[in-house]
Amino acid sequence: MIDGLAANFLEAELESGGLRNLAALHERGEYGQAVSVFPTVTPVCLSSIATGANVSEHGIPHIVWFDAAQGRVIDYGSSAGAVLAAGPLSVARDAMIEMTRTHLSSDVATVFESLEAAGLATATVSFTCFRGPVTHKIRFPGAVRRGRWFETVEGPSKFFFFNLYESEQLNTPFALRSRASGSVDAYGAAVASQLVERDEFDYFLYYLPDLDYAAHAGGGLSARVALRRVDNHLGTMFEAAGGIDAFLERYVIVVSSDHGFSAVRESSRLEEKFSDLRLLRSRGAGDPKESDVAVCASMRAGAVYRLPGCTLDVRGLASRAEACPATDAVFFMEGEEAVARRQGEELRFRLSGSELLRSGSVDLLDGDIYPQGLERAWHALNAERSGDVLVSAAGGWEFVDLAGRDHVGGASHGALTSADSVVPVLAAGLREPLPVGLSITDFATLARAHFHLT
Ligand SMILES: [Zn+2]
Repeated sequence: MIDGLAANFLEAELESGGLRNLAALHERGEYGQAVSVFPTVTPVCLSSIATGANVSEHGIPHIVWFDAAQGRVIDYGSSAGAVLAAGPLSVARDAMIEMTRTHLSSDVATVFESLEAAGLATATVSFTCFRGPVTHKIRFPGAVRRGRWFETVEGPSKFFFFNLYESEQLNTPFALRSRASGSVDAYGAAVASQLVERDEFDYFLYYLPDLDYAAHAGGGLSARVALRRVDNHLGTMFEAAGGIDAFLERYVIVVSSDHGFSAVRESSRLEEKFSDLRLLRSRGAGDPKESDVAVCASMRAGAVYRLPGCTLDVRGLASRAEACPATDAVFFMEGEEAVARRQGEELRFRLSGSELLRSGSVDLLDGDIYPQGLERAWHALNAERSGDVLVSAAGGWEFVDLAGRDHVGGASHGALTSADSVVPVLAAGLREPLPVGLSITDFATLARAHFHLT
């Protein structure tokens, strides 16, 4: 699973001839595409990949969201590795421990839980949605003392997580040495090749997050360099089995991503449209009872939570969000129906089973530009901890995040648009051909079906 790999980007890179190992896999297997969930941000997408559940079911609504139960804004940061590198500890703890331990719904099973319950050995590296049946002790007792981290987490039987949790002693480099030069992926690659050499797993979710980091920082050119490193890492893993053909005799492989990315040229602060209201601050003091709204914006997606003291209704909040220059479309619930607004026009919709009911400007979201846009927005709106108004950014735009950061000059993701949402799927060895119309929620289903667990 390569974080942030857009389908159109991989296709162009394969065409250019610079990817030896991915091209070899492409020759031997099949190619398809999958659509991500919304918002197209890593914690939301990884939770769908790990569980097979959509946003309406798995409990992780956004990369930054208002937790009514605790009365505070939870911010996972742009990635677990970036959070750990940047601190503070409470953010790292939410992203790396609490997301899987307490935020992920207990009503859904991870693929690690499903497979281990059937007696299979599962493995993962650096993957943040790791809930499994085996207790692992943290390897840095100093961090436990200073930051009061839980000493243990529950993960798959073979669990490798940024040198903090390692279920067995392997020869691994320090994961957070230099994100810019791909040190988390180098750590993952060391784990992957040694796991393959030992051939001790039935299922391995190999997660490579550094392409996303590179794309944010430097856009497509940086992502290209990172993708070549990923290609080399895959080659090393194939070699550990005796080459790609020997690897494919032993394993089924699916290479994909959680979301894509698009270039960022401008940014805007969603909160500015709510500056006359009492904003719940993510940092420092803030009391939800004394606040009107929590505005949770990050990358190319935003969420506005209406708090009890607010005199504006949800539609009023949505029109504020619609007026932000970075906004492309806004979504909110009105009774049993959802409302989408874009460029002053309005569409009402509702997903009933798999049937989409629409009225108003029914062509508001072109299916090529917003793949499965209304279905994905419906799931996001119907998540238990969803914002009252959800916002998708326009092409080239990004929302400044709660820490005041943006990726202008680089790339980002989060929106409903196809560049952010469509990911490539390279697969070899599956019993059935890759289905058409894949979603990233299907990867867990494919794994369970492979082991006859559906
Ligand atoms: Zn990202």
